[in-house]
Amino acid sequence: MGVKLRILGGGGEVGRAAYLVEDSGEKFLLDYGVNFDEEDHPQFPGHVRPVELSGVAVTHAHLDHIGAAPLLYITGRPRIYMTPPTLDMGKILIMDFLKLNAYYIDYEAEELAAMSSRAKLLHYGEEAEAGDYSLILTSAGHILGSSIVYLTTPSGHRIAYTGDINTIQTWTLNRAELWPMKLDTLIIESTYGSTKHPPRHLVEKKLIDSIDEVVSSGGTVLIPAFSVGRSQEIICLIQAELPHVDVYLDGMSRDITSLYLKYEEFLRDPGIFRKAVENTYFIRGWQDRRRAWRKPGVIVSSAGMLKGGPSVYYLKKIAGEPRNAVFLVSYQAVNSPGHILLEYGGLEEFGIERLKARLQWFDLSSHAGKDGLLDIALHYKHTLKNIVIVHGEPDAIEYLKKLIVENIGDDVNIYTPLNGEEITLED
Ligand SMILES: [Zn+2]
Ligand SMILES: [Zn+2]
Repeated sequence: MGVKLRILGGGGEVGRAAYLVEDSGEKFLLDYGVNFDEEDHPQFPGHVRPVELSGVAVTHAHLDHIGAAPLLYITGRPRIYMTPPTLDMGKILIMDFLKLNAYYIDYEAEELAAMSSRAKLLHYGEEAEAGDYSLILTSAGHILGSSIVYLTTPSGHRIAYTGDINTIQTWTLNRAELWPMKLDTLIIESTYGSTKHPPRHLVEKKLIDSIDEVVSSGGTVLIPAFSVGRSQEIICLIQAELPHVDVYLDGMSRDITSLYLKYEEFLRDPGIFRKAVENTYFIRGWQDRRRAWRKPGVIVSSAGMLKGGPSVYYLKKIAGEPRNAVFLVSYQAVNSPGHILLEYGGLEEFGIERLKARLQWFDLSSHAGKDGLLDIALHYKHTLKNIVIVHGEPDAIEYLKKLIVENIGDDVNIYTPLNGEEITLED
């Protein structure tokens, strides 16, 4: 018998997280996300029969973890577990995903509503039962409401699934909270499994100094940022270090920021966040937008990789002036406009032959680097029997595997499965 883990997505790839646990004939699903192919079309995880599920847990609101979950409500109504901010932000992101990709998606708003009605909302540390499974969510430090799932199977096998995780404290969130528990299996992400992030305070100082230089010489800084997480970090940082600088917020970040306020009990320091929001101008329409870039200040706007959103409008407006600047603070996927801009210094698709404004990239990741990931494995090493490395490019996964073997030894089984594979976990 034993506990089985089937990889439906997120095996050897970043995103499309979907992991099916099976024990004593009962199934439990961890995340059900989507990915995008080279043409930007959505890719879905492997099929699962919703009626067979004892439950589903969603770690956080990013589409690569929640984007496929409404599919489960076409033919079923499984109970789905997540934090309140994950559901609220997830709904915004899924509606946007539907709007842009309806042709490729088999579910509609109706299934999203069915999913919401079946949601069992959990706070960190609150225990829940799902059939003969039990689970607890704790903070993952990645975005508002993001969680690690601690799952105990019907036969008593204890699993932790990190989702996307950050092990350092940031302006908006506390670091991930590792629950005290004797773990048998760790399912760990590896987005930055081979990367050592530079110390956060040094990156932030460099960003602040650069903003200060540009704004004091009368320039405008555009910071294209992911609407969930990164935008909120940036407004807090600027408020703390450069409170006299005008900050404008545009795009979907505005709605998400309101949700950050609504769920302030999930923030590290609600006071800091409230103050940052009070000192930020929310762009309400074209009149505001046309005014914002003409004055010295900072514009924080989605999309983080310059794939659409108001950041494209601002980029075109400020690109031709050397006193302005574009500071990229998000991950830039290969072939995304942001990546092309960094590579070639121009962007023909937006009519920018050569960017005259200053351009810089800052590593402000919301994922743990290799050392943070190793620390999680070390934390549980005395009882761990299985480590399953997922949600990473093959190179990063192999690197992290090597790092863990060097530090923990080979008493523990380390798996690096691909999509479609099934693992039998050692008890
Ligand atoms: Zn992810
Ligand atoms: Zn994420």
